[in-house]
Amino acid sequence: MLPWFLAVSWFMPLSSQNRSKVVIIGSGFSGICLGIKLKEAGLNDFLILEKAEDVGGTWRENHYPGAACDIPSALYSYSFEHNSEWKYKWSKQAQIFEYQKSIANKYSLYQHTRFGQNVISASFDDTLQLWTVTTVSQEVFTAQHLVSAVGQLHCPSTPHFPDDNTFTGASFHAANWDHSVSLKGKRAAVIGSAASALQFIPEIAKELTHLTVFQRSPNWVIPKLDRPYKPWEQWLSDKFSFITKLYRLKIWLTGEYLLLPAMRKNRLVRAHIRRINQKMMKASIADTSLRKKLTPDYPVGSKRILFSNNYYDAIARDNVYLDTSGIEKFTPDGILRKDGIEEPFDVIIYGTGFKTNPFLEAIDIKGLHGKSLREAWSNGAEAYLGVSTHGFPNMHMMYGPNTNLAHNSIIIMIEAQSRYIVDCITGMDDRKLATIEVKKDSEKSYNEELQNRLRKMAFYEIEHSWYMDGGKVTNNWAGGTVEYKRRMRHFPWADYQAVE
Ligand code: NAP
Repeated sequence: MLPWFLAVSWFMPLSSQNRSKVVIIGSGFSGICLGIKLKEAGLNDFLILEKAEDVGGTWRENHYPGAACDIPSALYSYSFEHNSEWKYKWSKQAQIFEYQKSIANKYSLYQHTRFGQNVISASFDDTLQLWTVTTVSQEVFTAQHLVSAVGQLHCPSTPHFPDDNTFTGASFHAANWDHSVSLKGKRAAVIGSAASALQFIPEIAKELTHLTVFQRSPNWVIPKLDRPYKPWEQWLSDKFSFITKLYRLKIWLTGEYLLLPAMRKNRLVRAHIRRINQKMMKASIADTSLRKKLTPDYPVGSKRILFSNNYYDAIARDNVYLDTSGIEKFTPDGILRKDGIEEPFDVIIYGTGFKTNPFLEAIDIKGLHGKSLREAWSNGAEAYLGVSTHGFPNMHMMYGPNTNLAHNSIIIMIEAQSRYIVDCITGMDDRKLATIEVKKDSEKSYNEELQNRLRKMAFYEIEHSWYMDGGKVTNNWAGGTVEYKRRMRHFPWADYQAVE
């Protein structure tokens, strides 16, 4: 039986199209996965609200030259949706985006999605025990369950520099690449030199007359063992999917047993990665002073280890200059460097990453008794298993606090979270529970354990990274994917309580 307030709410003046059991914000890998798992559980009463005009999340938004995945597609894809048509071992953005669209189509998720709905607020009504979600266009949606599936990397971060408003050339962030700006024969500056920049710098360096890369800190870069799949390999993968499953296992093992130990400060593994990095750098760059500039002074694993076969070759080009002095200020014609040299540029490209903290900053979320999520997380976001947080009943997060991986495919985490959320919703229905929240003590002790473990890891060996907020690591998970999957396997009812 539905409680009386849920039954009454059904007659409230709201378009029935805007009322559903579950509202999911975002249609990237997380939103698509949850939609599929809800349908498989027979729960068809859900809506996905998507700010853009198609599904895909980060793989729809990031179409800069050279955009590709830094995890091989055999693992960076749903375990239940095998694809034998990957063209490359490490797929390019366009094919990943196509994969997402074809899956959304296959599971009829487009019918569940309302496009052009940019969510700005969500509040929990204590009396009706419903979430009310409002979009930029002031459209209102209500649901028993609210799921955030917005990802961690969707708000581009464009830092300000003195006089940056005076620059008269073109400028854009890599996540909003302006393909109408031709780079052929131009002089460009790239600010930032991490995961995204590493992918587009080799592509644009070929076209430009001159490129200056403004590097604040170098990265540990190792080779990307990429190549196109041969037609017979695609055929084999199609006919015998277990072959791809074995390959998937190999990639997963590499992440768990080569990369994760580096994050756990394993000296041998770190030394091995440093050696690979230095060997690759030496093969591309003869100039020892340039090699020094490109060698990080922080331990392997404190930031994401990057994969590239052509980044160092690009930096070694005659038309590329690596600046490490920094930016003094912008000028109408270009940038004045901190070493006193003023360089003219036609284009300035920001490869400066995303606003990862505070989490969910773009949405004003109010939980029980009007509790603000922004205030609750003012000292850094935290959640129980990355999915639930006390005071925000029936709110579930995907790719939430402390669920990012620096060593393996995030899709593994997303699948575990989807199953957990579906278990919660179906289990509540079976138990005739309308509203539950995670217990304060369960969330507290979980986070104490998590932070104790994280403090022993490489992420705490540097002062700043996008993994951190308020002096603590808010983005990354502390263990391997097997442990996370195990902890997510059975919904822990004892750690949740009913909200009356
Ligand atoms: P990022 O890792 O946050 O890197 C931002 C870059 O901009 C860094 O080099 C940073 O320097 C620099 N920067 C930031 N603010 C600056 C400032 N005020 N002045 C000068 N330099 C500044 O961003 P990203 O490269 O876009 O990558 C973000 C994440 O996206 C990655 O870690 C990865 O998880 C994901 N990603 C994944 C793929 C994939 O293939 N799956 C591809 C691209 C990105 P510091 O290092 O000194 O902070």
